[in-house]
Amino acid sequence: MLTILLWIVPVLTSLWVAVDSRILKLPVTKKPYGLNNGCVAWFLSCLFLWIFTFPLYLWRRHEFLKLQYEQEVRIASEFACPSCSAEMAVRTEQLGAVVACHACGQKIQVTNPQCRKVLGMGEALVTTLGLGSCAAFIVVGVLLFTGDIKVDSADLSAQVKAEFETRLHSTPEGREVEVNSLILTHVSGNDYKGAVEVTAEGENYQIPITTTCDGKSFFYETGKPAVTTEQLSRMISKLLLSRFAKNSAMKEVTIASLNVVHVEGNKYRGIADLRQGNETSPLKFNATFDGFMFLFELVEPVE
Ligand SMILES: [Zn+2]
Repeated sequence: MLTILLWIVPVLTSLWVAVDSRILKLPVTKKPYGLNNGCVAWFLSCLFLWIFTFPLYLWRRHEFLKLQYEQEVRIASEFACPSCSAEMAVRTEQLGAVVACHACGQKIQVTNPQCRKVLGMGEALVTTLGLGSCAAFIVVGVLLFTGDIKVDSADLSAQVKAEFETRLHSTPEGREVEVNSLILTHVSGNDYKGAVEVTAEGENYQIPITTTCDGKSFFYETGKPAVTTEQLSRMISKLLLSRFAKNSAMKEVTIASLNVVHVEGNKYRGIADLRQGNETSPLKFNATFDGFMFLFELVEPVE
C-alpha cells in the first residue's frame, strides 16, 4: 500500500507540475517560456528526478510568482491621471481601490493585479503542501527501506500465502491441496495472526497461523487444523478407496462405515468396515494428520 503511494505521489505531482507550469508560463531556464523550455521539460524532469525537481519547481514557482507580483504591482501603482495626465503613485494597499487625483481631484479606479489572487493564501498553501509531501515521501521511503514501518497486513498476508503455497506444493501430496485464502491481522509489535483456508480431498477447513514479521523478513507457524471428525472420516474414506483401487486384489472393496476419534495432538485412530461381496471385515488404523496429509498405520491387517 505504502509502496504504491511512493509511486503515485511523484506521478500525480508531476502531472500537476506540467499543467501548472503551462498555466503560469513558467520556464525551466532563464530563457523565455517555450516548447523546449516549459511544461514538457518540467514534467519529464519531475517524473524521473522527482525528489530534486519537485522541490525545485515549488521554489521556482514561489520566486516566479513573487517577481511577477512585484512587477505587476509596480505597473499598477504608477500611472498617469486620465483627466489631467498628472503622474500618480499609490501604495500597495490602495490597489483595486478608488483614489482621487492629487492635481485635479478626479476619482480614479486603480487596477488590481490578477496575480494577487494567486499569491497570498493560494501560493503559500501549494508550497506548504508540496514541501510536506516531499518530506513525507522521504520519511516513508527511508522507513520502508530500513524496515521500521511494519508491513501492511494485506501485503504480509499475500507474501505469507505465496511462501505457504510454495512449500506446500513442493511435495506430491501437498500439490493436491488448494490454498483458498490466507488472512492475517496485526496483533501487536511484530506479531500477526489469522487463518489459512484450504481444500483437501474435497473438504474445506481452516488452519490457524501465527506470523512474526520485522518488516524485512517473516516467519510463520501453523496450528491445529479446524477440521471435524466427520470431515476427517470422509477424507480418510476417499484416500483408502483410492488406494484400494490401485490394488487388484482389493479393487472390489467398499467402505460400509468409517469412524475416526481424536487421540492427541495430530494423532487419530479409527475403524473402517470394509465390504467385499457379502463379507464385512473391520480395518483398524492409526492416522497422523499434519493439516494436509495423512500417515496411516494399520493396527490389524485386512484378512
Ligand atoms: Zn488629474
